[in-house]
Amino acid sequence: MKQIDCLDVGVVGVGHLGQHHARIYADMPDVRLAGVADANPERAREIADRYGARAFTRAEDLVGAVGAVSIVTPTVDHHRVARLFLEAGADVLVEKPFTVTLDEADDLVSLARERQAIIQVGHIERFNGAVRVLRSMVTTPLFIECNRISPFPDRSTDVDVVLDLMIHDIDIILSLVGSPVSAIHAVGVPVITRSADIANARIEFASGCVANVTSSRVSQKKERKIRIFQPDAYLSLDYQNQELYAYRRVPDADHPGGRPKIDGGKVKTDKDEPLKVELGAFVDAVRYRKRPLVSGEEGREALRVALAVMDDIRRHTPPL
Ligand code: NAD
Repeated sequence: MKQIDCLDVGVVGVGHLGQHHARIYADMPDVRLAGVADANPERAREIADRYGARAFTRAEDLVGAVGAVSIVTPTVDHHRVARLFLEAGADVLVEKPFTVTLDEADDLVSLARERQAIIQVGHIERFNGAVRVLRSMVTTPLFIECNRISPFPDRSTDVDVVLDLMIHDIDIILSLVGSPVSAIHAVGVPVITRSADIANARIEFASGCVANVTSSRVSQKKERKIRIFQPDAYLSLDYQNQELYAYRRVPDADHPGGRPKIDGGKVKTDKDEPLKVELGAFVDAVRYRKRPLVSGEEGREALRVALAVMDDIRRHTPPL
């Protein structure tokens, strides 16, 4: 097994989210934040100085200085920037959504295979402490309800609400249901931008499971929840607080042999910073050449379903 002593890493795009990638890498044992690149030179310098790294304004100049890199630029640049590093043999963590098009995703996946490089896609909710416990309780999900709503952000508006927010839930649902998608019915409403700012999708699976997913970036409040119904249990998870509640059907001592009752409550979960767990898993995958929990193929599949949702929305939305 190939082991790396000190891993030189970099971050491209140190805006709202990328600064946290830089912070977490800078604090990791046996990892050196060798450099950060940002198209905005003042921002690159500010974050580089904060963590004792070198500052670049072009991703090209960081290639060669790092063995692994996080790509946290706006989504439109993910493919071009990831390609630069993969071509040089570096491993990449690409923020979600993986790319804008499936052709771009396919290109990166095949380039990584050719170069035996690792791609991890930044579907951070997989690393949420409550999701990790939830996964062990899901058996035969039949109905899933998701709500991911928040006030309007001033960033990530280069993509619509499906690629911005709903894709988080799509990835989680695909990973939990483990059955092919058989039908999608979706609707979306443009409110502030010219693309959907609030969307609802009904995603049906060959297993019979149905997921009803609502995402909004024009809400007054912030809520991120998933509820899963299966024959023996109801599971309710709050992503923000990393809390999980589980209710199960159990025999009712008051009605021996009669109808069962529902019993349950809060389940113990390990709360940790999901980004820290995600980047730790990426570094492990790089060091030990392991398949990452969220591979390029899985990032591509979440993107494929998200694009199908967007296609269906376009079918129902009159042009503005
Ligand atoms: P942001 O606009 O705050 O930051 C992007 C940064 O990239 C800016 O500093 C900008 O100057 C820089 N940049 C732009 N083009 C560049 C290029 N070609 N090379 C180098 N730097 C460049 O955006 P953000 O909110 O941090 O989002 C960045 C990415 O992270 C997006 O893909 C977004 O979808 C993703 N994201 C993921 C999550 C999550 O929960 N996993 C949350 C937020 C954002």
